[in-house]
Amino acid sequence: MIWSSISHNQIPFLSSPYSRKRKRKVGIFMKLSRQLYNQLIHFVERELPKEACGILGGVNDHILSIFALPNESNTNKNFYVRQEHVEIVFNKLAHYEQEVLAIYHSHPNSNPIPSQSDIQFHPDSQVKMAIMSYKNGNPQLKIYRIINGIYINIPFSIIE
Ligand SMILES: [Zn+2]
Repeated sequence: MIWSSISHNQIPFLSSPYSRKRKRKVGIFMKLSRQLYNQLIHFVERELPKEACGILGGVNDHILSIFALPNESNTNKNFYVRQEHVEIVFNKLAHYEQEVLAIYHSHPNSNPIPSQSDIQFHPDSQVKMAIMSYKNGNPQLKIYRIINGIYINIPFSIIE
C-alpha cells in the first residue's frame, strides 16, 4: 500500500482527536475476538487480488471494530482512499467512544512485513499497522508498531 496516493489523507490521522484523546500506554499485545478476526479475513478476501485496507478501532489494545475502506485504485499494488471515507470512520469511532488502534491492509502476494513505503507513509506512530498476507493462500496476520522508520512486532491474541 502506498499512502502517498492518498495524498493529504495523512492529515486527518495526525490531527485526529480520537488517536490522541488520551495518552495511550504502549501495548504489549493486542486482542480481538474470533468473530472480528473472521470479519477481517472476510474483508480482505473479498478484495483479492486487490489490496484491502481499513481501520481497526477499539479501546486501549482491545480491537472492537473493523471498518473496511473502499480501495478506489485499479491496480493491485497501491491504494487510494478518499479523505471523506476516512472521516466517516473517525466520526463512527467517536460515536462508539473508540479510538483508531490500527490501520490494516493486505499483501495479496507478499509476506506480512511492512514495505519501505508502508513504513515511510505510516501516518502516526501511535496507530499500529496490521498486515494480512495471502502469500501462502491462507490468511496470516501480523501487527506492528512503526517508530522512527523501524517496525516492531506486536503480539496479539484471538479471544474465543
Ligand atoms: Zn504493505
